[in-house]
Amino acid sequence: METLNLQNQDSILVNNQNFTVKAYGTQAADKDLELMQVTRRALLDTDVEIDIMYCGVCHSDLHTARNDWHGSVYPVVPGHEIVGKVVRKGSKVSKFNVGDYVAVGCLVDACLSCDNCQVDLEQYCLNGSTGTYNSPDKHLGGRTMGGYTERIVVRQEFVLKMPNNLDLAAAAPLLCAGITTWSPLKHWNVTKGTKVAVIGLGGLGHMAIKLAKALGAEVSLFSRSENKKQDAFKLGADKVIISTNTAEMQSVKGKFDLIIDTVPYDHDLNPYMMTLATNGTLVLVGFIGQSKYPLHTGPMISRRRAVAASVIGGIKETQEMLDFCGEHNITSEVEVIKMQDINTAYERMLVSDVQYRFVIDMASLKAE
Ligand code: NAP
Ligand code: ZN
Repeated sequence: METLNLQNQDSILVNNQNFTVKAYGTQAADKDLELMQVTRRALLDTDVEIDIMYCGVCHSDLHTARNDWHGSVYPVVPGHEIVGKVVRKGSKVSKFNVGDYVAVGCLVDACLSCDNCQVDLEQYCLNGSTGTYNSPDKHLGGRTMGGYTERIVVRQEFVLKMPNNLDLAAAAPLLCAGITTWSPLKHWNVTKGTKVAVIGLGGLGHMAIKLAKALGAEVSLFSRSENKKQDAFKLGADKVIISTNTAEMQSVKGKFDLIIDTVPYDHDLNPYMMTLATNGTLVLVGFIGQSKYPLHTGPMISRRRAVAASVIGGIKETQEMLDFCGEHNITSEVEVIKMQDINTAYERMLVSDVQYRFVIDMASLKAE
């Protein structure tokens, strides 16, 4: 499709209408993802239209496709690690030009005026931020449709600039796995010498290791998987603790200032609490919901330990993370797949058979 500059008002009148694009999505929790069409809105003055080149595959995509969190409205078109090129822009877009390499993460809108938005915490918008998929769509009605699509239209405030030295496919996971682990690392002031541990070596976990290491932390990994040990060291971990081994768990009692817990499913936090130092905090970014494992508050009270949780990051913080990754040449370890392989990829992700993020090459969707 030819690019079009909407600063030319005639072009707006002639061509600016809602349009459809190819997508992969699912019609129900127990159905595979399949080819479908979704509608993108006519560009508003402050909108950017992005031709999607790559989209990372987050475990949240799978949770939403399969209604693990009980809020999915079908059809669900997942994808919130989006990298692409600007192909059109509204007349009031000042941040981007046609041809720029840009990115979109987990958010496409927020009120930008509440107390949280005012301090760049759009992810905690008090009026409800709009997720890139499965959120109420203010413009078209229905739900927002994510990045497993050819193109997306996003207001410029929620579009990020890609550093020009990073491989675009490998950088896509920074938009969720990167920012979700970066935000707690920054919030809890991780710096040189901070003792950080990460639970789970998957998409988020491997980014947590890389980012914490780049911030100067001493980094450990808790994993169930013996076979990931060598990879963890290569990624920058100083120590690996097999979480099912009681002696290994005992050996790190009272050690960590911060634990980032990326495990997607319900699990017992009590063994990890014991490994926090005085004033240490365990931050949940994975499991959402009511746990069946009661938390023993004794170890928390006795050392002022805390359990907290965190969701993605704000737009300013996401740009800071991208710029940091550009400066330090940090990207994800990725396996690039075709859109048509997404259902197999989900099955492999469920059994932790991914090193360490799938990224969809959208050329495969465009060719279908
Ligand atoms: P992932 O790539 O599947 O990695 C999760 C890792 O957790 C696995 O590699 C595995 O590591 C460990 N694990 C998996 N199942 C487990 C189980 N039943 N018990 C114990 N450990 C298990 O997933 P991801 O994309 O990194 O996402 C992780 C979680 O974060 C998901 O729930 C996702 O929805 C959530 N998330 C949250 C946010 C946020 O803003 N808070 C943003 C993005 C994603 P080992 O083999 O090393 O044990
Ligand atoms: Zn995600």
